[in-house]
Amino acid sequence: MAWARRILRVNLTNGTCTPEPLNMDWAHRYLGQRGLATKYLAEEIDPKVDPLSPENKMIMATGPLTGTCASTAGRYSVITKGALTGAIACSNSGGFFGNELKNAGYDMIIFEGRSPKPVYLYVENDDAELIDAAEFWGTSCWDTEEGIKKKHQDPLIRVASIGISGETGCKYACIVNDMDRAAGRSGVGTVMGSKNLKAVALRGTKGVEVDDMARFLSVTAAGKKVLAENAVTGEGLPAFGTQVLMNVINEVGALPTRNHRDVQFDGAHNISAEAMAEPRRSDGKPNLVTNAACFGCTIGCQRVSKIDRTHYTVKDRPQYHGASGGLEYEAAWALGAATGVDDLDALTFANFICNEQGMDPISFGATVGAAMELYEMGVLTDADTDGLALNFGSAEALTTLAELTGKGEGFGKEIGMGSKLLCEKHGHPELSMAVKGQEFPAYDSRGIQGMGLTYATSNRGACHLRGYTVSSEVLGVPEKTDPLVADGKAGLVKAFQDATAVVDSSGLCVFTTFAWSMEDIAPQIDAALEGEWNVDNLLELGERIWNLERKFNLDAGFTGKDDNLPARLLKDAAKTGPAKGLTNQLEKMLPEYYSVRGWTTDGIPTNETLSRLAV
Ligand code: SF4
Repeated sequence: MAWARRILRVNLTNGTCTPEPLNMDWAHRYLGQRGLATKYLAEEIDPKVDPLSPENKMIMATGPLTGTCASTAGRYSVITKGALTGAIACSNSGGFFGNELKNAGYDMIIFEGRSPKPVYLYVENDDAELIDAAEFWGTSCWDTEEGIKKKHQDPLIRVASIGISGETGCKYACIVNDMDRAAGRSGVGTVMGSKNLKAVALRGTKGVEVDDMARFLSVTAAGKKVLAENAVTGEGLPAFGTQVLMNVINEVGALPTRNHRDVQFDGAHNISAEAMAEPRRSDGKPNLVTNAACFGCTIGCQRVSKIDRTHYTVKDRPQYHGASGGLEYEAAWALGAATGVDDLDALTFANFICNEQGMDPISFGATVGAAMELYEMGVLTDADTDGLALNFGSAEALTTLAELTGKGEGFGKEIGMGSKLLCEKHGHPELSMAVKGQEFPAYDSRGIQGMGLTYATSNRGACHLRGYTVSSEVLGVPEKTDPLVADGKAGLVKAFQDATAVVDSSGLCVFTTFAWSMEDIAPQIDAALEGEWNVDNLLELGERIWNLERKFNLDAGFTGKDDNLPARLLKDAAKTGPAKGLTNQLEKMLPEYYSVRGWTTDGIPTNETLSRLAV
């Protein structure tokens, strides 16, 4: 129950779409979505394959709760070997696409091979076919989604697509569904583009059954009550979205600024949730139009904004006068503090372009920040940038590069390489603020020590969504720990990583964990599925998933040496704020982390650990 018990295998080389039964042994051991799809990927590909070769596979996967009436249960993930990192990639998205996939009767779709020409997959319950996508190739995610709905004369189709950036090889292209929700990180859209797969369009009407409906209704209702009564999920996120963090993280001295040269941004307020809600547009209204929610979500954290029509980016372009998703905190940080730009409308415009052309705004903004540092050092010159002055704080540079990168043109082609390749190419690899090739999100690990360990050990490269210790270190959830202290962070990071792996495999949104503990989540899974699911066996399942991902990366060629941070964070102390004088103390935390994980001192899971977890 709750699982559809069926997957769709799409061979793009041969043009075939074949349903097959879900491996139920694996489903019981890996739950769904992130965990279960990683198991399929690890079993079906050589981890050493080139991510952009036909031998790589890409899986779109739901969790068992996806499509049910549990709050936030509309999630799906894209699992593949990442184009940006060469590591295991799992990018999670909300909106309505995941629900539609489950309702079409599939737990996941496995894409293999490479189509000889651009195609899109159209699924209507049991019918699945690959359709020529020539008319959509070279168009944006927005035009593709609209065009497919029009072509099939069905506005209720749910579409996930790549934009031009995914076709032109931007390393951090994402997959956009429902116009502004995205499987954003690690270049999953780049992999999709390499397969000549432009879009996936779904129509599903089957419904989702659960094991014990009466109990499921009762425990999911109790869960919704907890979310509604919690200050973060019931008030903060609906009112301010994740952007509520901008001023908070700046205050604690952990807002990476100008490519991590600083930890506080003097323009933070101008790009904050508070600024988005101020009446600052020329028509007297705020940029923020409303909040919004993904399928079944009772939190509603999503922001929907408009750009001031007199702003230089859009004054002659009415196609950008409507509302689109954002700004969310990570995007506002990457497009703003990381580049030193505090023009809210410019950030909103750059974010629109990321939605429109399918680019990860975190990697894009962070790479622009790295390019600005190279430019100010004189390493990059006007000759490299086609005359564009890349000074920190330049809104024009940011917005111009967003458009160029989105279309894979001019210097945007270099920004699309990501900061690692860009900085290596220009002789300064130390200026790439990344782990395993993936750019940091919005927390400086000199001011939040546990996040340094989280980033260094994250299986998909630097990421806040693999173990959000900010919850404990800054927000005090589930209990407060000191962000400036490294002691005890190894166990904290492991606990967050394992619990997050469970949530990411269930179909639920990780933002529920601001209010829900595993004690709230386990009964919902237990009522939905056959068998016994409790806190203990779910946390063990999370640990199994973490070790499976680790094993994939080791087999791909990564080693413990890749569990590292850029020298800037380990050697250059924070200049201001509560962390002034501090660097990240990774060397202290990492050996302890390996030990609590049951790994060797080189970071390799021991046979005993792998066999205890039945990986
Ligand atoms: S909390 Fe936000 S991101 Fe999560 S499901 Fe709800 S609206 Fe979507």
